[in-house]
Amino acid sequence: MSRTILIVEDELAIADSIAYALRTDGFTPLHVTLGGQALDAMRAPDVPALIVLDVGLPDMNGFEVCRLLRQFSNVPVIFLTARSDEIDRIVGLEIGADDYVTKPFSPRELVARIRVVLRRLAPAPAAAPRFELREPEARVIYRGQPLDLTRYEYLLLKALLEHPGHVLSRAQLMDRVWADAPDTLDRTVDAHVKSLRAKLRLVDPAADPIQTHRGMGYSLAPA
Ligand code: CA
Repeated sequence: MSRTILIVEDELAIADSIAYALRTDGFTPLHVTLGGQALDAMRAPDVPALIVLDVGLPDMNGFEVCRLLRQFSNVPVIFLTARSDEIDRIVGLEIGADDYVTKPFSPRELVARIRVVLRRLAPAPAAAPRFELREPEARVIYRGQPLDLTRYEYLLLKALLEHPGHVLSRAQLMDRVWADAPDTLDRTVDAHVKSLRAKLRLVDPAADPIQTHRGMGYSLAPA
Protein backbone atom coordinates (compact mmCIF):
# COMPACT_ATOMS: atom_id res chain seq x y z
CA MET A 1 0.00 0.00 0.00
CA SER A 2 1.13 3.53 -0.75
CA ARG A 3 2.68 5.42 2.18
CA THR A 4 1.64 8.74 0.66
CA ILE A 5 -0.89 10.83 2.57
CA LEU A 6 -2.51 13.74 0.74
CA ILE A 7 -2.96 16.88 2.86
CA VAL A 8 -5.55 19.32 1.47
CA GLU A 9 -5.21 22.44 3.57
CA ASP A 10 -4.86 26.12 2.67
CA GLU A 11 -3.27 27.15 5.99
CA LEU A 12 0.42 26.48 5.47
CA ALA A 13 1.37 26.35 9.16
CA ILE A 14 -1.18 23.59 9.77
CA ALA A 15 -0.15 21.69 6.64
CA ASP A 16 3.52 21.91 7.65
CA SER A 17 2.88 20.55 11.15
CA ILE A 18 0.88 17.62 9.74
CA ALA A 19 3.58 16.93 7.12
CA TYR A 20 6.26 16.93 9.80
CA ALA A 21 4.35 14.47 12.01
CA LEU A 22 3.69 12.21 9.01
CA ARG A 23 7.38 12.14 8.00
CA THR A 24 8.37 11.36 11.58
CA ASP A 25 6.06 8.34 11.41
CA GLY A 26 7.40 7.08 8.08
CA PHE A 27 4.68 8.41 5.80
CA THR A 28 5.22 10.54 2.69
CA PRO A 29 3.14 13.73 2.85
CA LEU A 30 1.84 15.36 -0.32
CA HIS A 31 0.40 18.83 0.17
CA VAL A 32 -2.06 20.78 -1.95
CA THR A 33 -4.08 23.88 -1.05
CA LEU A 34 -7.11 23.58 -3.33
CA GLY A 35 -9.93 21.06 -3.69
CA GLY A 36 -9.41 20.90 -7.44
CA GLN A 37 -5.77 19.96 -6.93
CA ALA A 38 -6.83 17.22 -4.52
CA LEU A 39 -9.12 15.69 -7.14
CA ASP A 40 -6.31 15.89 -9.72
CA ALA A 41 -3.92 14.14 -7.30
CA MET A 42 -6.42 11.31 -6.89
CA ARG A 43 -6.47 10.78 -10.65
CA ALA A 44 -2.65 10.60 -10.86
CA PRO A 45 -0.99 7.16 -11.21
CA ASP A 46 0.45 6.97 -7.66
CA VAL A 47 -2.75 7.35 -5.65
CA PRO A 48 -2.33 8.40 -1.98
CA ALA A 49 -3.42 5.93 0.72
CA LEU A 50 -5.53 8.50 2.59
CA ILE A 51 -6.64 12.14 2.40
CA VAL A 52 -6.59 14.67 5.21
CA LEU A 53 -9.17 17.14 3.95
CA ASP A 54 -9.82 20.61 5.35
CA VAL A 55 -13.47 21.65 5.18
CA GLY A 56 -12.78 25.33 4.49
CA LEU A 57 -10.84 25.59 1.22
CA PRO A 58 -10.50 28.63 -1.10
CA ASP A 59 -12.03 27.08 -4.24
CA MET A 60 -14.71 24.72 -2.90
CA ASN A 61 -15.58 23.28 0.49
CA GLY A 62 -14.29 19.88 1.67
CA PHE A 63 -17.74 18.31 1.51
CA GLU A 64 -17.96 19.11 -2.18
CA VAL A 65 -14.45 17.70 -2.73
CA CYS A 66 -15.47 14.50 -0.91
CA ARG A 67 -18.69 14.20 -2.90
CA LEU A 68 -16.84 14.51 -6.22
CA LEU A 69 -14.11 12.18 -4.99
CA ARG A 70 -16.60 9.45 -4.07
CA GLN A 71 -17.73 9.29 -7.69
CA PHE A 72 -14.47 7.58 -8.61
CA SER A 73 -12.52 6.69 -5.43
CA ASN A 74 -12.98 4.88 -2.11
CA VAL A 75 -9.85 6.44 -0.60
CA PRO A 76 -10.29 7.01 3.16
CA VAL A 77 -10.89 10.65 4.13
CA ILE A 78 -10.26 12.33 7.47
CA PHE A 79 -11.79 15.80 7.70
CA LEU A 80 -10.23 18.77 9.45
CA THR A 81 -12.93 21.03 10.80
CA ALA A 82 -12.92 24.36 12.59
CA ARG A 83 -16.52 24.74 13.67
CA SER A 84 -19.09 22.62 15.43
CA ASP A 85 -21.69 23.07 12.67
CA GLU A 86 -19.18 21.43 10.31
CA ILE A 87 -18.90 18.46 12.67
CA ASP A 88 -22.68 18.16 12.58
CA ARG A 89 -22.55 17.96 8.81
CA ILE A 90 -19.79 15.32 8.81
CA VAL A 91 -21.63 13.19 11.32
CA GLY A 92 -25.11 13.84 10.00
CA LEU A 93 -24.56 13.57 6.27
CA GLU A 94 -23.67 10.51 4.28
CA ILE A 95 -20.56 12.04 2.79
CA GLY A 96 -18.30 9.03 3.14
CA ALA A 97 -15.82 10.38 5.69
CA ASP A 98 -13.84 7.88 7.79
CA ASP A 99 -13.06 10.22 10.68
CA TYR A 100 -12.70 13.91 11.55
CA VAL A 101 -10.43 16.02 13.72
CA THR A 102 -11.36 19.44 15.09
CA LYS A 103 -8.99 22.40 15.05
CA PRO A 104 -6.87 23.03 17.00
CA PHE A 105 -5.55 19.49 17.10
CA SER A 106 -2.31 17.68 17.84
CA PRO A 107 -0.61 16.47 14.65
CA ARG A 108 0.50 13.33 16.50
CA GLU A 109 -3.11 12.59 17.41
CA LEU A 110 -4.06 13.03 13.76
CA VAL A 111 -1.33 10.61 12.64
CA ALA A 112 -2.57 8.09 15.22
CA ARG A 113 -6.08 8.39 13.72
CA ILE A 114 -4.62 7.91 10.24
CA ARG A 115 -2.95 4.70 11.41
CA VAL A 116 -6.21 3.41 12.86
CA VAL A 117 -8.14 4.08 9.64
CA LEU A 118 -5.45 2.46 7.46
CA ARG A 119 -5.23 -0.59 9.75
CA ARG A 120 -8.99 -1.02 9.65
CA LEU A 121 -8.94 -1.05 5.86
CA ALA A 122 -5.79 -3.16 5.37
CA PRO A 123 -6.52 -6.64 4.01
CA ALA A 124 -5.73 -9.46 6.45
CA PRO A 125 -2.37 -11.05 5.57
CA ALA A 126 -2.75 -14.34 3.72
CA ALA A 127 -1.64 -16.93 6.25
CA ALA A 128 0.10 -20.14 5.27
CA PRO A 129 -2.21 -23.11 5.88
CA ARG A 130 -1.66 -24.42 9.39
CA PHE A 131 -1.52 -28.09 8.51
CA GLU A 132 -1.19 -29.86 5.20
CA LEU A 133 -1.62 -33.63 5.25
CA ARG A 134 0.28 -35.44 2.48
CA GLU A 135 -0.93 -39.00 2.80
CA PRO A 136 1.02 -40.57 -0.08
CA GLU A 137 4.25 -39.44 1.58
CA ALA A 138 2.95 -40.07 5.13
CA ARG A 139 3.99 -36.51 5.90
CA VAL A 140 2.48 -33.44 7.57
CA ILE A 141 3.51 -29.91 6.65
CA TYR A 142 3.00 -27.50 9.54
CA ARG A 143 3.15 -23.74 8.85
CA GLY A 144 5.00 -24.54 5.62
CA GLN A 145 7.58 -26.79 7.29
CA PRO A 146 7.66 -30.60 6.93
CA LEU A 147 7.53 -32.31 10.34
CA ASP A 148 9.96 -35.10 11.19
CA LEU A 149 7.53 -37.54 12.81
CA THR A 150 7.69 -41.16 13.91
CA ARG A 151 5.08 -43.55 12.53
CA TYR A 152 2.82 -43.25 15.57
CA GLU A 153 3.21 -39.49 15.89
CA TYR A 154 2.20 -39.20 12.24
CA LEU A 155 -0.84 -41.46 12.67
CA LEU A 156 -1.86 -39.62 15.85
CA LEU A 157 -1.69 -36.19 14.18
CA LYS A 158 -3.49 -37.55 11.10
CA ALA A 159 -6.33 -38.84 13.30
CA LEU A 160 -6.70 -35.41 14.93
CA LEU A 161 -6.49 -33.60 11.58
CA GLU A 162 -9.25 -35.75 10.15
CA HIS A 163 -11.61 -34.60 12.92
CA PRO A 164 -10.76 -30.93 13.59
CA GLY A 165 -12.49 -29.60 16.69
CA HIS A 166 -13.72 -33.04 17.77
CA VAL A 167 -12.56 -34.51 21.04
CA LEU A 168 -11.08 -37.97 20.49
CA SER A 169 -10.79 -40.15 23.59
CA ARG A 170 -7.62 -42.10 24.35
CA ALA A 171 -9.50 -45.30 23.46
CA GLN A 172 -10.55 -43.88 20.08
CA LEU A 173 -7.00 -42.75 19.38
CA MET A 174 -5.63 -46.16 20.35
CA ASP A 175 -8.09 -47.82 17.97
CA ARG A 176 -7.08 -45.60 15.10
CA VAL A 177 -3.39 -45.19 15.70
CA TRP A 178 -2.24 -48.31 17.50
CA ALA A 179 -4.54 -50.81 15.79
CA ASP A 180 -1.58 -53.01 14.92
CA ALA A 181 0.13 -52.75 18.32
CA PRO A 182 -1.26 -55.27 20.83
CA ASP A 183 -0.09 -53.88 24.16
CA THR A 184 -0.83 -50.17 24.39
CA LEU A 185 -1.76 -48.13 27.41
CA ASP A 186 -3.48 -44.81 27.91
CA ARG A 187 -0.13 -43.32 28.74
CA THR A 188 1.21 -44.37 25.33
CA VAL A 189 -1.21 -41.86 23.83
CA ASP A 190 -0.17 -39.19 26.31
CA ALA A 191 3.53 -39.82 25.68
CA HIS A 192 3.08 -39.47 21.94
CA VAL A 193 0.97 -36.32 22.29
CA LYS A 194 3.80 -34.90 24.39
CA SER A 195 6.50 -35.67 21.82
CA LEU A 196 4.26 -34.43 19.00
CA ARG A 197 3.65 -31.14 20.82
CA ALA A 198 7.40 -30.70 21.27
CA LYS A 199 7.93 -31.09 17.52
CA LEU A 200 5.13 -28.62 16.71
CA ARG A 201 6.64 -26.13 19.17
CA LEU A 202 9.93 -26.25 17.27
CA VAL A 203 8.10 -24.78 14.27
CA ASP A 204 5.83 -22.32 16.12
CA PRO A 205 6.76 -21.78 19.79
CA ALA A 206 3.72 -19.54 20.38
CA ALA A 207 1.06 -22.04 19.27
CA ASP A 208 -0.28 -25.23 20.84
CA PRO A 209 -2.76 -26.63 18.32
CA ILE A 210 -3.45 -29.83 20.27
CA GLN A 211 -5.92 -29.26 23.10
CA THR A 212 -6.13 -31.49 26.15
CA HIS A 213 -9.63 -32.24 27.47
CA ARG A 214 -9.13 -33.53 30.98
CA GLY A 215 -10.67 -36.96 31.47
CA MET A 216 -11.90 -37.03 27.86
CA GLY A 217 -9.09 -36.92 25.37
CA TYR A 218 -7.57 -34.61 22.78
CA SER A 219 -8.69 -32.41 19.92
CA LEU A 220 -7.15 -30.24 17.26
CA ALA A 221 -7.87 -26.57 18.09
CA PRO A 222 -9.76 -24.62 15.42
CA ALA A 223 -7.29 -22.59 13.31
CA1 CA B 1 -9.02 26.29 5.65
